[in-house]
This record gives sequence, C-alpha cells and structure tokens, in this order.
Amino acid sequence: MSARPRNVTATGRAAIDAIRPTRIEVDLDAIRHNVGVLRRMAEPATVCAVVKADGYGHGAVATARAAIEAGATWLAVALVEEGEVLRAAGIDAPILLLSEPLGQPDAQGRRRAATRLLGADLTPSVATVAFAELLGEVANAPVSAHLLVDTGMGRVGCRPDEVPALLAHPALRVTGGWTHFARADEDVATTDDQLARWRPCVERIRQAHPEALIHAANSAGVLRHPAAHADLVRVGIAMYGLSPAPDVPAAAFGLRQALTLRTGVSFVKHVVAGTPVAYGHTWSAPRDGWVATLPIGYADGVPRSTSNHTEVLLAGQRYPQVGRVTMDQVMVFTGDHQPALGDDVVLLGGDDRHPDDPTRFVSVDEWAAAAGTISYEIPCHLTARVPRVHVG
Ligand SMILES: *Cc1c(COP(=O)(O)O)cnc(C)c1O
Repeated sequence: MSARPRNVTATGRAAIDAIRPTRIEVDLDAIRHNVGVLRRMAEPATVCAVVKADGYGHGAVATARAAIEAGATWLAVALVEEGEVLRAAGIDAPILLLSEPLGQPDAQGRRRAATRLLGADLTPSVATVAFAELLGEVANAPVSAHLLVDTGMGRVGCRPDEVPALLAHPALRVTGGWTHFARADEDVATTDDQLARWRPCVERIRQAHPEALIHAANSAGVLRHPAAHADLVRVGIAMYGLSPAPDVPAAAFGLRQALTLRTGVSFVKHVVAGTPVAYGHTWSAPRDGWVATLPIGYADGVPRSTSNHTEVLLAGQRYPQVGRVTMDQVMVFTGDHQPALGDDVVLLGGDDRHPDDPTRFVSVDEWAAAAGTISYEIPCHLTARVPRVHVG
C-alpha cells in the first residue's frame, strides 16, 4: 500500500480494524474543485449538492460538508432517513427532500413520515393536495415547501394545471418550485419541450411568491442546457467528477473523478500457457506469465458483467482483469512482470506516482461501459463491506 500524504478519515463499520487492504478513497479536494467548476458554469444560479444514496456511494456527510465548503447553498436527498443522517452530523444547510415520502400502508405511517421530515427540518417537495394536507395537520402551521411539477419526466410531480391549487393551499408556504428532465444528457428537443411546459408554471409561482427558488437542471442540464439554470441547479453525478452519459464526458468540463478504489495483491502465481482461470474457465493464459489475485469481488460491487473487460493499475502499469469476477476475488494477468504480495492495485482512479498521466487512470465510465450500464450505478453499487476513506 502506498503511503498517503494527506489527512485521512475512515468511516463505516468496515473501516474499524480493517485487515483487508481493499478500500475506497474519496478525494474531497476533487469534490470541492468540481463544485467550483459547476458553480462557475451555473452562475448566477447556485448549487444544490445531491447527496442521496450515501452521496452516490462516496459518503454523504463528508461529501455534503465538502460541497458546502466549496459554496453549495443547498443539499438534496431522496429519503427522510438520509436527511436525518446529515442533521445528526450537525449539518445545518437547507436540505430538499426530492419526493413525497409516502407509500406506507396506513395513515399512521404517513403521519410518522411527515413528522420525521419536519423534525429533521427538511424542505419537502410537494406534488399533491393530499400531502399538503398531511403536512398541515402535522405542523399546525404553514410549511415551507417546494412545488414539484412533472413537465415530462413521467415519474413524480403534479401536472402543470395543478400548480394553482397547490400555490393557493393554506398548509403551504411555497418557497420554491422545480421540475426534472428526462433526457438532458442525450437530447436537446425534449429538454426544450419540458422548458416550454415549465415556463408558465414558473410565471405562476413567481407571481404568487416572487422570492421562490426556481430550479430544473441536473448535472447534464448544467453542462448542456444553459437556459435551464434558473436560480439553483441540482447536481449529483458531475459533482463526483463522473459523466452523466458517454456523450457528456466529465473530464471535458475539467471535472475530476473523486473516487479511487484500491486494494493490494493477495496471492501470486506463475502459470503456463493455456492455464484456465476462475469459474467457467472463460479465460486461459495466452502465454506463460504471472497471475495476481486481488481481494475484491462482486460482493464489494465489482460488476460480474465486467469480467474480462476491465484493466487495473498494478504498480502503476495497466494490466487486464482475467477470468470471471468472483464474489470475493478477481485475477489479473501481468505477463512477464512478477508482482509481489501487497503490491498496490488501483481498480478505479489514478496512479499516485504519475498523477498527470491520463493513460494511468481507470475511469468509472470505463467500468460502466464494460458493464453495459451508466456511471451512476457503479459507485452506488460499491457495498458497505468496503471502507470509505476521505482524503483531503
Ligand atoms: C438524482 C437527482 C438529481 C441529480 O442528478 P444528476 O444527474 O446526478 O446530477 C437531480 N434532481 C433529481 C430530482 C434527482 O432525483
């Protein structure tokens, strides 16, 4: 393992007394840098840092703090529970809850959701009169809320023609209004259509509440649709330095991947040409050479679908991952290079010794392509078994 020059804080149960060298390092300087880049692109809009799903797997509390240090004015979460975690850590920035926290089988469960939401001082997104009424009952006073309007995402949100009823609802003090794009990462026409449907809603909201915060853009909206910036932008993936889509590459905007996935060689053997490796024998050595085993597998979030399709940096050189990804271990073929036990291996991220060499860098986007998925899913699927270490 390489010595880490900066202060580090390990979080999570798995970090306590870790023996296995597998860990996720999150570079908080990269998060701060990325927030700065996005702020400059979105100006005069300010940044709402989306830290749902434990900060897309990066650690919500550390990421939220770094984002606020870099000037983010709001945070957003998907669950009441996620907001409570931020409040328990002492974070006092405004936190937007991105949907109505309903789905409980009875009225008592729904009241409890509303009570906890208000208890954690989260700002609800409201799309139905029923939820407005529930909030009013629980709070006994008008509740500050952002109206959530569906202009074409087809998920949650009220219809544009339902905006006036919510604006007039006595249980609410409307302090914001927002919508969400379905195709901001891939298509301009759909986003323009959604903006056309959104504009009359904005006018209505502003007429009733001139101070209301208007927001629509996600990461792809910030990077590709300046007309969508409004007062606030809700950025997730780009803040972590990852690409919303292959056509919207984070690096091209000067964004830096914050995440490094690192381990150490745990087993070394020399094999002769033709030696098969791992379940199903999907790979055999093309020539005599060295095979290194790494103590990480799909139980840690390495997608099994990437088997035989990614590379790692071992002692600073790229080598192919070979054979099926197994639950706890993966193999790497290093050819004539004899690895040593404990050699540093980077599965995602860059090489400390050559930080500016783009060929010595494995991006999350590469894994996403190999797995046939989007970059979002890769860090979200890195499991709690892997300690998160925050650097910088
Ligand atoms: C997750 C989410 C975002 C952030 O999206 P990114 O593409 O990661 O920037 C913004 N708004 C809503 C409603 C979301 O659910």
